[in-house]
Amino acid sequence: MVHSLPWTAYLLGAVAAGANVFGGIVITARNWERRYVRYFVALGAGFMVGVTLTEMVPESLHRNPSSGPLLLIIGFLLVHLVEHSIVSHFHFGEETHAEEFSHGHIPYSVLTGLGIHTFFDGVAIGSGFLISDWLGWMLFFAVFMHKIPEGVTIASVMLAAGKTRSVALLSALGLGICSIAGVLLMALFPLGLPYTFPLAAGVTLYVAATDLLPEVNREPGIAMASLVFLGAGLLFALRYIFGGGV
Ligand SMILES: [Zn+2]
Ligand SMILES: [Zn+2]
Repeated sequence: MVHSLPWTAYLLGAVAAGANVFGGIVITARNWERRYVRYFVALGAGFMVGVTLTEMVPESLHRNPSSGPLLLIIGFLLVHLVEHSIVSHFHFGEETHAEEFSHGHIPYSVLTGLGIHTFFDGVAIGSGFLISDWLGWMLFFAVFMHKIPEGVTIASVMLAAGKTRSVALLSALGLGICSIAGVLLMALFPLGLPYTFPLAAGVTLYVAATDLLPEVNREPGIAMASLVFLGAGLLFALRYIFGGGV
């Protein structure tokens, strides 16, 4: 059964979008502390891997047994196409390689690729709330944890490409708007859930495994790597407390 989207979905979609803008502010307001952003990347990576493999993938196959598996891989490969194939240089986190941005179109290709990814962040939140409040909240947490780093990424790409701070901030806002559009899509077309949910699951798995985890693995020492386990553990703790068992 598909029910209509509760108001919490809109609110949390807006909060997630606000976190994109906050990430943009962290970069454009020069002296802001930003070292903590990588902790969100590590926690978010563990939480997202957990939520995709234990909630989104099983639910996708349950909702759409025939084409769910194909849509999962299409979602996964879609982000590979728009973030890492069409775009020549992209990685999560603060961009410092100005030399990679000598061609004027590259930052806007990054923005487009990230915009498609963030649209599915919103689809994930909206789809989750169409299934249950529990899943909606879990997908909100999964999205929220990487939203500040996402704003940091796009704003720093723009600055590295020589764009103004306003363009950098507007780009972060643009990503937030894409996420809200994803939530609105699910409000308008809830019957699309069996198709959009597996796509969003594939997108989320790609973002966790290839955008976030490599950034964690670049960090020396075990502290950052350990946070990935904490992120996954947090999901199981929340499920134990609120979701009726591990
Ligand atoms: Zn770079
Ligand atoms: Zn995202």
